Amino acid sequence: MPRRKQSTHAWVYLIWGLNGFAILSILAFSALYRTSFRASAADGGTPTARPGETRQIPPTSYFLPTLTPNPFYTPPVFETPTPFVLPRGLRPAVIGFSLAGRPIEVYTFGDGEKEYLIVAGIHGGYEGNTIALANELITYLDENPEVISGDVTLYIIRNMNPDAEARSNDVDGRVNNNGVDLNRNFPSSNWTADWDRDGCWIYRPTTGGAYAGSEPETRSVMSFIGSHKIIAMISYHSAALGVFPGGVPWEEPSKRLAKALSKATGYSYPPVDTGCEYTGTLADWAVENRVGAAVDMELSTHKYTDFKENLKALKVLLSFEP
Ligand SMILES: [Zn+2]
Repeated sequence: MPRRKQSTHAWVYLIWGLNGFAILSILAFSALYRTSFRASAADGGTPTARPGETRQIPPTSYFLPTLTPNPFYTPPVFETPTPFVLPRGLRPAVIGFSLAGRPIEVYTFGDGEKEYLIVAGIHGGYEGNTIALANELITYLDENPEVISGDVTLYIIRNMNPDAEARSNDVDGRVNNNGVDLNRNFPSSNWTADWDRDGCWIYRPTTGGAYAGSEPETRSVMSFIGSHKIIAMISYHSAALGVFPGGVPWEEPSKRLAKALSKATGYSYPPVDTGCEYTGTLADWAVENRVGAAVDMELSTHKYTDFKENLKALKVLLSFEP
């Protein structure tokens, strides 16, 4: 019995020994094979640089990336919603961009030291006739430069809210792309994000902005006004309520400008009181920030430009002394 047990053990050792030898042989063979493969590849390869040689690197352009167009890049399209081009080639300057990247343009007439400003389109396509009026005034002044006397500079921002104009010519085209009423976004002393809607425009939801001066359109106009010494300005609206002087409460020079404009145009002064409280307006902010006099002036309808009346208004504006 013990002998049989011993011989069984011997067989087990022999089989495991043979297995181990076979495995080791395979490993050794594959290791040798791969070593010889690498060695032969290295033998046939290109000679390595000798010590002392330096690689010839071309000058600086060597490390510049190649200019491969990115197939996912869409270039921004800077277009004005209503193409407006003057035949004699006068070009506007761009004072900033809307949320959608549309330019906010200013036309400049004359180069005198007395600076005046007209702003149109603050309420977009909903008051699109103010933009049409600005286009007519710009075309008229381009053809009749003698209207601007030597000591005067007139700036016309023809469309302060181009995204809203591009969106719609109806109630949907009033606020900017953040849903903000730009004429309630200026950081005047009475700015509020929300207000009592009694007597106010209520056809769509809107706010005064996340904070005063939050919108790029607002900041573009603020920085333009801040970099000039504007004597008097008109911010055009429609429709029908009349001429609103700037200031909280209304300031004397702005009341005087409103009265003179009312007399020239027939627009109401004092303006129609609907009970609405206006906050954060461009005109209010302007007179709190070095502008001599400012008004919000409403055309009589949403449709017509009242060009004849507003040519008279232009003459009143350009001769105004605060
Ligand atoms: Zn308006």
